[in-house]
Amino acid sequence: VPAAAVSSSSPPPRQQQQQAAAVVAPSPADDKVLVSVEVLLHATSAARHSDVQAAVERMLEARSLSYVDGPVPIPADNSFLIENVKRIQICDTDEWVENHKVLLFWQVKPVVHVFQEPGEDDTLSSFNEWALPAKEFDGLWESLLYEVGLKQRLLRYAASALLFTERGVDPCLVSWNRIVLLHGPPGTGKTSLCKALAQKLSIRFKSRYSMCQLIEVNAHSLFSKWFSESGKLVAKLFQKIQEMVEEESNLVFVLIDEVESLAAARQAAISGSEPSDSIRVVNALLTQMDKLKSWPNVIILTTSNITTAIDIAFVDRADIKAYVGPPTLQARYEILRSCIQELLRVGILTYPQGGSVPCILNYSTLKEKQHCPEAAEPNGSFHFSSLLYEAAELCEGLSGRSLRKLPFLAHASVANPSCCDASTFMHTLIQTAKREISESR
Ligand code: ADP
Repeated sequence: VPAAAVSSSSPPPRQQQQQAAAVVAPSPADDKVLVSVEVLLHATSAARHSDVQAAVERMLEARSLSYVDGPVPIPADNSFLIENVKRIQICDTDEWVENHKVLLFWQVKPVVHVFQEPGEDDTLSSFNEWALPAKEFDGLWESLLYEVGLKQRLLRYAASALLFTERGVDPCLVSWNRIVLLHGPPGTGKTSLCKALAQKLSIRFKSRYSMCQLIEVNAHSLFSKWFSESGKLVAKLFQKIQEMVEEESNLVFVLIDEVESLAAARQAAISGSEPSDSIRVVNALLTQMDKLKSWPNVIILTTSNITTAIDIAFVDRADIKAYVGPPTLQARYEILRSCIQELLRVGILTYPQGGSVPCILNYSTLKEKQHCPEAAEPNGSFHFSSLLYEAAELCEGLSGRSLRKLPFLAHASVANPSCCDASTFMHTLIQTAKREISESR
């Protein structure tokens, strides 16, 4: 037991107390030293963290021991703590100890942090689940900007697939499936587009399906996290999905991200560079996916960051394959425009000289006006939009994800961020774009 009993009852000399405060963080209120006490709850504990915190504080108050880094035994007669707490640990006193001081209980104000170890279900954190339509995906579809037609094409494909199913079209006569593959470079919005598509469809088919769910599985994390237990967990996950699809008024979307890691893991297992466990997991997953396909109320959405052929059986059979590339000039302009509008909306950007909020022209209007010189009055919306256009031109090759960060980076580099006029900001945005582009090469 690292904590030794102390019988001292005399208060410390003032000088020693002050030294103590200098070594470990002092508590301004009463000159005591703040010491962190970490309390780990059992995975099964349902106790409120505030109750545990209070109980630990009482327990610590009742003991007259010195404080040294290490575990604190839980008193055997404290059934509440015994039941709920796995470990109590004193932390961060080492600085004090290095200075050859003993930290006595009356010098200390313990700061108790309660946390819980993950339960079995939390180890399934390689997947997420949403009931659709979900509030957090509201507006996502509209925020994704691509060349004209891509989103509509996806929506029509998926809607036709669901309609064929609903009308009971015989798959021996007309074949179709409900597998979507979006592939392209990272950060081009593939995952977001899958989620937005599921959200749109859940709204469109509300009258046919009373419940819609989206399950997101990250194929990559499947391998990094699930190794020892992976087979069992894949089975458990799919059993859950199976239960959902058996209810025919449910529409279930299964999103598998970074699907190429399945093929990579299989390849690595064949060449012997990864344990053969992984091949079992991949195969289990593919078998389960294959089984799932036969259910009419499932749509499987997959994404891949590689653009070459992916050697995975079910992806081969994807009907809907779409390449999602880096944003075009128009998409880049519109992405940046939506960012600037948002910053104006919340007042982070202001119009020059306190004027009214400038209307930033949309791409096609700007294009039309580029041919009529009278549009170019200073500080008008054309001037403003042209600066934005310049930034969008510079950003060729940046992903949508990088573009959405650009205004943030630009803001972080303006000299006076609390009063940021939109015109000056545009110039900073252009500089930031130049920097980002040169760093990304
Ligand atoms: P991926 O799955 O392709 O790596 P994500 O879906 O994770 O990409 O995209 C990350 C974020 O980048 C999106 O949530 C979105 O904010 C932004 N983004 C990417 N591409 C676009 C785009 N074409 N239009 C608008 N925003 C985009």
